[in-house]
Amino acid sequence: MAAPILSERDLQFMLYELFDAEALTERPRYSDHSRETFNASINTGRQIAEKYFIPIRQKVDTDQPTFDGEKVHMIPEIKTAVDAATEAGFVSATADYELGGMQLPPIVASAASAYLTAAGSTTLGYLSLTNANCNLIEAHGTQEQIETWVRPMREGRFAGTMAMTEPGAGSGLADLTTSAVKSDDGSYRVTGSKIFISGGDHELNENIVHLVLARVKGAPKGVKGISLFIVPKFLVNEDGSLGERNDVALAGLFHKMGGRGQTSTALSFGEKGGAVGYLVGEENKGLSYMFHMMNEARIMVGTGAAVMALTGYQYSLHYARERPQGRIPSQKDPNSPPVNIIEHADVRRMLLAQKAFAEGGFALCLLGAQLADDEKTAPTEEERQQAHLLLDFLTPMIKSWPSEYGPEANDLAIQVLGGHGYINEHPVEMFYRDNRLNPIHEGTTGIQSLDLLARKVPMNNLAGYKACLAEIQKTISQAEGGELAAEAAQLTDALATLQKTTESLLGAMMEKPIDLALANSVKYLDMFGHVVIAWLWLKQGLIAQQKLGSDPGFYQGKLQAMRYFFRYELPLIEVWSKVLRDLDSTCLDMQDEWF
Ligand SMILES: Cc1cc2nc3c(=O)[nH]c(=O)nc-3n(C[C@H](O)[C@H](O)[C@H](O)COP(=O)(O)OP(=O)(O)OC[C@H]3O[C@@H](n4cnc5c(N)ncnc54)[C@H](O)[C@@H]3O)c2cc1C
Repeated sequence: MAAPILSERDLQFMLYELFDAEALTERPRYSDHSRETFNASINTGRQIAEKYFIPIRQKVDTDQPTFDGEKVHMIPEIKTAVDAATEAGFVSATADYELGGMQLPPIVASAASAYLTAAGSTTLGYLSLTNANCNLIEAHGTQEQIETWVRPMREGRFAGTMAMTEPGAGSGLADLTTSAVKSDDGSYRVTGSKIFISGGDHELNENIVHLVLARVKGAPKGVKGISLFIVPKFLVNEDGSLGERNDVALAGLFHKMGGRGQTSTALSFGEKGGAVGYLVGEENKGLSYMFHMMNEARIMVGTGAAVMALTGYQYSLHYARERPQGRIPSQKDPNSPPVNIIEHADVRRMLLAQKAFAEGGFALCLLGAQLADDEKTAPTEEERQQAHLLLDFLTPMIKSWPSEYGPEANDLAIQVLGGHGYINEHPVEMFYRDNRLNPIHEGTTGIQSLDLLARKVPMNNLAGYKACLAEIQKTISQAEGGELAAEAAQLTDALATLQKTTESLLGAMMEKPIDLALANSVKYLDMFGHVVIAWLWLKQGLIAQQKLGSDPGFYQGKLQAMRYFFRYELPLIEVWSKVLRDLDSTCLDMQDEWF
């Protein structure tokens, strides 16, 4: 029997026990839905994954897209899979009915697309980017732009991209040089080079709608001079039919370590005089609009990383249950049959670590999806504002924690399989390669850590920070005096460590050189992330403790993974806290010539 792609039981737990997704049907936006329609969409995701994505998974990995100088070529099965997922509504799962969407709550859409992510994250990537592109134009574009670009994207005729990165501007978008000049008809002519643009060219759709960051001639330097443009591959006539080819050329494809289903492109804008671009919103406000897409993409990236960790965990668990090898230390008789490797404590350690990272990280991403929904559809204005505050604060962690610990989980999945994990007969090495992108794109871990410590923590008089701590405190209060009192006490101590560290860093940011105060920001992100994941494990533990009798195997597993995280991982924050509070300058002081 093949390994399951994901645990159906755990998905149900996450949706209906940890996050009460069923209660969302009481909100007017979701009144047509029910637990049945939610589960039906999850089943559709699973079926498409099994029918179209899993059978081509290895071929997608080995047969990368190629470019013959004119067109991109890829295995035809990718189009079949993309079309099947499009047909089933995965470009528009959360969109309004009137734009062709299914109006599913984001948390349900995340669970439904988890199967597709697990089975082929970068094949699904074409749809996810298109959806996020549509969401941005719906939020900041004109009605005409929505009709011209969003509608065909929602219908699956056009695809969408986000085009920010340039050869000289990756993490530092402030230095981007792509330029735009306004022409007499009100449109712009865009010129410049973009690299690493996912889905930047292919033949899967009739047209591709690039959302391009560029600088209008004469705009101020830095992020305050960046504007956002819709630059299509083909222009569109007034009646909606495709017009002539725009001045956007594919300069080449990148060949990657993983994630090979989706093209990674170098795009050249304006080689023949300027690509036609249409301004979104106002000039010089482009980066703030793009954050609409980036914030969504950051949750998507974290979710992808967590889901790949989940699927690697399931695969290695299945393998460990079937692979006989060696004997446990107390049983040395060579006449006894070898045990399945799941009997070895160290293999259990590797499985438990994966479970703790993957299910903890996925819970964080689903929380993000729920908050993104709550900020729009929660019943009261106060709840909506609270959700906005929390989501904004948590976004760097939602993006980065699963992206760092997801590949670590996949690394352990390889180790569980031993030599068999290192060869491509099993997909675990591919999961690792695919997942390894996640700490890099949509803002590297280093950039996210600076965003957390230098911006999100001090912002609005520490409002997001305090709101997050208050949520954690609520769960601690529920656990105090009960079966999980020891974990509640440990998390109380961890919160105290976090607060002490934060106060000391905020003080240093005022009184010491800022480079020193921020030098170990990644360790701060790690520390905060660990506290947040411990909180989400305590939440899961509380439910498991309460329901233990009804499904002992499942809930014992939850409790044991919680214990693992509290005993093996959470104590690490003390080491990181010391480095941070000491303003350790080992890295900062290291000189170029000393390496
Ligand atoms: C497969 C793939 C798909 C991608 N898809 C897209 C896409 O669709 N659209 C798009 O626009 N871009 C895309 N990107 C680009 C991606 O977002 C960038 O690669 C990423 O933001 C990092 O930029 P860079 O590669 O130029 O690295 P650099 O910015 O050069 O960073 C290199 C290293 O320096 C560190 N660093 C840089 N600046 C700082 C700083 N100020 N403080 C501390 N450390 C710093 C980074 O953390 C990193 O470790 C994609 C990239 C890849 C590989």
